[in-house]
Amino acid sequence: MEMDQVNSPQWLDSSAPEAVTESAVLTPITVAPGDGIGPEIMQATLAILSAAGARIAPEFIEIGEATYLRGHASGIDDAAWASLRRTGVLLKGPITTPSGGGYKSLNVTLRKTLGLYANVRPCISYAPFVATLHPRMDVVIVRENEEDLYAGIEHRQTDEVYQCLKLITRPGCEKIVRHAFEYARQYGRRKVSCMVKDNIMKMTDGLFARVFEEIGAEYPDIQRERYIIDIGAARLATRPERFDVIVMPNLYGDILSDIAAEMTGSVGLAGSANIGEHGVMFEAIHGSAPDIAGQGIANPGGLLLAAVMMLVQLRQNDVAERIHNAWLRTLEDGIHTADIASGNTRSKVGTSAVAEAVIARLGQQPTQLASVKYEAAPPAAQPRRPLYVRQPAQHKTRVGIDIFVHAAGIAPDDLAAQLQAVETGQLSLQVITNRGVKVWPQGHAETFCTDHWRCRFLARTGAEALTLGHKVALLQRMADAGLDVIKTEHLFNFDGVAGFAQAQGQ
Ligand code: NAD
Repeated sequence: MEMDQVNSPQWLDSSAPEAVTESAVLTPITVAPGDGIGPEIMQATLAILSAAGARIAPEFIEIGEATYLRGHASGIDDAAWASLRRTGVLLKGPITTPSGGGYKSLNVTLRKTLGLYANVRPCISYAPFVATLHPRMDVVIVRENEEDLYAGIEHRQTDEVYQCLKLITRPGCEKIVRHAFEYARQYGRRKVSCMVKDNIMKMTDGLFARVFEEIGAEYPDIQRERYIIDIGAARLATRPERFDVIVMPNLYGDILSDIAAEMTGSVGLAGSANIGEHGVMFEAIHGSAPDIAGQGIANPGGLLLAAVMMLVQLRQNDVAERIHNAWLRTLEDGIHTADIASGNTRSKVGTSAVAEAVIARLGQQPTQLASVKYEAAPPAAQPRRPLYVRQPAQHKTRVGIDIFVHAAGIAPDDLAAQLQAVETGQLSLQVITNRGVKVWPQGHAETFCTDHWRCRFLARTGAEALTLGHKVALLQRMADAGLDVIKTEHLFNFDGVAGFAQAQGQ
């Protein structure tokens, strides 16, 4: 299908330099059309923003597939960084990460470099105009954006075992939880739910849960509740109307926000705001949709709603409101792209025809869907209360060491005998686990074992204070005995409390 024609706003032409410097009262923003359907939905979105009188001066950058293929492993070059540093605001189309090794995720790079700690994804149903099983859904997912398993710290350790480190930090938890409660208060939301797996990951997800309780207590006007992620996700999938704002670590939030968006009718309908201390980025939650790219049929709604969130962030609430209400009216009038076409569709149209329909309705309100009123400012990236508070350092004492050994086809008792033979006056073998499960002492013959053994040595009672030198001496004895050490983790107590988990089955 040919793309319908939209009159391009003057500044849509990235080759026109005067567009960028048109007026000092315009807020400079950086615009990256992106890959796949990106340029189509960006053109439609910018046409609407221009017609609605958005007070912005876009600077266009190229990021993504073409940049990767020009040899920039991170998908972004110095000129694009310079624009981003200048404006601090990015409106971004989806990016295709080329398959094959060596290419880093541009989205992760942008989030981490700009410190975009919060990813806010409203997922709202538009029934009966968009078909959904959940007509009363209005959920905002606030996803931690910088850490967790997305730190990208992965290693192959043995023939059989690979690991990915899950890093959860106190400042990271405080920032995202604070943002979720500030968001709820700012937008009159009544409840914040937290979803974690702290029954299993007691230290990492446990910290997230603890910080949720601590910071939540500062917001007595807002209800708070906590779910183990499995039942929480199940409830979200079946009774989403029970939820309001949900705050989650990175991986859970990534997965659940796509599910939540799809539950409203189409993944093409949701936008997201990435809020940071050094910048803000707005994008649709969907990807570059290569299966429909170039056909002019993509739904521009997700990117348009992201642009609306950007306008609110730029304090252009009046323009944000005009656009959002005109878009709702367009949905009501049954002017739909193919992904949301259903019984209530009057006219199935392409991307730019949706843009024309929204432009034609600027100034109109929806008549059945609730109209949008943007009165409040968005939650500040730096709220009145500090985003996070660095805690005083605790007293740290060395109490032992976990030494990981690569050994294939060995019985746990035989490995224990080899390890006990190299014990020192300071450190003795306490337990051996395989994939976290205790296999010595008194393991179960049925436990499946790989070639990757965690051997825990603890300081002997009554021995002198444990030092790094004592551990090095043990490692040297293991090396001399031909044991293949592949990793160590040092065991500490913090103010007398163990800073490590017990082995499963211990
Ligand atoms: P996708 O979101 O691009 O597409 C999933 C399905 O949803 C496809 O059938 C697609 O046609 C449909 N769809 C998505 N957006 C739509 C829209 N606006 N209108 C109508 N239908 C729409 O996910 P994918 O196919 O798994 O990923 C494609 C590429 O996008 C990959 O390279 C992936 O890495 C990338 N990606 C980028 C981002 C981002 O830049 N933020 C996010 C997710 C995926």
